[in-house]
Amino acid sequence: MNHHTSPETAVKTQPSEVLKTDSDQDLTERCRARVSPALQALLHTAARTADRQQVRVYAVGGFVRDLLLGVRDEDLDLTVEGEGVAFARHLAAATGGTCKGPSAFGTAVVVTQDGHKIDVAPARRETYKQPAVLPTVEPGTIRDDLFRRDFSINTLAFALNGPEAFILIDWYGGSADLAEGVIRVLHNRSFRDDPTRMFRAIRLEQRFGFILHRHTLRLLQRAVDKRWIELLSGARLWRELRLMLEGESPVACLRRLDELGILSHIDADLGLSPDRLALLTRVAEVRVELAETHADVLGRAWPVYLAALFHGLDVNILRRAGVRLTLAPRTIQELVEGLTAAEGACQRLRTADKLRPSEVVAVLRTLPLEMLPLLLALCPGGEVHRHVQHYLTTWRHIRPDLTGADLKRLGVPQGPQIGRLLAHVLAAKLDGEAMTREAEEALVLRALA
Ligand code: ATP
Ligand code: MG
Repeated sequence: MNHHTSPETAVKTQPSEVLKTDSDQDLTERCRARVSPALQALLHTAARTADRQQVRVYAVGGFVRDLLLGVRDEDLDLTVEGEGVAFARHLAAATGGTCKGPSAFGTAVVVTQDGHKIDVAPARRETYKQPAVLPTVEPGTIRDDLFRRDFSINTLAFALNGPEAFILIDWYGGSADLAEGVIRVLHNRSFRDDPTRMFRAIRLEQRFGFILHRHTLRLLQRAVDKRWIELLSGARLWRELRLMLEGESPVACLRRLDELGILSHIDADLGLSPDRLALLTRVAEVRVELAETHADVLGRAWPVYLAALFHGLDVNILRRAGVRLTLAPRTIQELVEGLTAAEGACQRLRTADKLRPSEVVAVLRTLPLEMLPLLLALCPGGEVHRHVQHYLTTWRHIRPDLTGADLKRLGVPQGPQIGRLLAHVLAAKLDGEAMTREAEEALVLRALA
């Protein structure tokens, strides 16, 4: 459960929010003040479950980071020293929720009755044998587990049970980096081990308005030069890209990917010209406007950004990138069609000077609604916007008064003619030429004559 603000406003974190003094190392008060009552109850249940199972359980990662930042985060990451899966099952039982897993890494996901998602993982140590390939893991201590993490700000943790409960664990300088707004890897091989961290670094940077630490930036640039991104599986690459496109600042992330030379390692022809950047920015703006006025047509974020990213390129480049990202053939086809439909609709709506409402509707019907922001971004003119406004508020809801059954009663035989006549009637109604049921009937009878 992430809490979204408007697309391009990263949470600019005030350093003063972060720990100031050593006495702040005790997080009991902070949890009481900042964590929702439901989640506090959950922490308590997890602690008691851990006691009963005789394991030590830690809150780790994003949850602790967000707690220190004062950003609300309702998802919990727990690491267990000891039997992780058994603990997860007992926690699910204690909260009346469900438990899924374990995965190949022994992780499980508990979803509580009130919808909280808790990732439960056994503390582990990782060894990376080859660049960009998932590691081999073995059981480890919490210290091992925190050392395998991506950035110092994500290594923060605290125990939920035991004598040190609620005391901040900060072995890798995470709270200092949080206070400074710095993203820093833990060791020089980090991006080589796992190039998805390059994407995670950019996503965090844009989300919190942080900066990459100088040395981390240099390591990232070296990782780009070594083309390690090309070694990543399509599924992992896509997961990262999709998280960006669905996050709070997709355009800023794409711009940064381009600036750092990463976009072109996803596909050699991919890049952000000033035009394409302006287009993406308009897509984001239109989505914000639509969220306020017509949230029902907003649809998913990633398809429209992905389509916009390929505007002006040969569609075969989009197809090739789709294959690289292991998108399903049908998804690739939908993207290609969505992009082409938006470009075509823009052309039609802009170039024809006086369009009847029925003609506008016929054009817009060819466009999946979630691609509307792309159309509006492609066609910044007032005329097209007015058409789309009308379409959204009125035209798309209009139906003929007559139904197929009525047409049969009027003597139209069962078959495709029914559909054609209904379309004809609808067009007349949209254009103000058949304003009553009687007028619709007259129209049908005239067509049959
Ligand atoms: P978000 O708010 O986006 O969920 P998060 O930091 O919680 O941020 P998750 O993807 O939920 O991100 O991961 C949880 C934790 O697991 C991270 O905080 C980090 O410590 C660790 N982690 C996730 N992905 C990686 C990775 N690729 N390499 C190393 N550690 C990772
Ligand atoms: Mg998380």
